[in-house]
Amino acid sequence: MRNKAPLTGYSLIFLGAAFIIADADALFNMYYLHYVSIVVGMVILLAYYLTTRSEKNLLCRIGFHKFEHVGWDNEVPFRLIYRCQRCEYVKRVIRSSGGGGM
Ligand SMILES: [Zn+2]
Repeated sequence: MRNKAPLTGYSLIFLGAAFIIADADALFNMYYLHYVSIVVGMVILLAYYLTTRSEKNLLCRIGFHKFEHVGWDNEVPFRLIYRCQRCEYVKRVIRSSGGGGM
């Protein structure tokens, strides 16, 4: 049932945010229940990422990589290559506005 953890976490955060936006205390007198929902959701997500990912750096495990631009992809035009300074994780991003124009 591990795969349900992220969904549960995001659902709780979304629900809490929705209640805040809808100003639910006026209707249900829920006090701080929506904040609890968000906090619990974030804790579930963090626990999930910390236990399932293998990056050494804790920030990297929860998705906060420290990317630096290391070059351009040779295969695809306008595709930038970023690498994390901490865990060497590489991501490639296609820049939609491929220059030109001006
Ligand atoms: Zn990283």
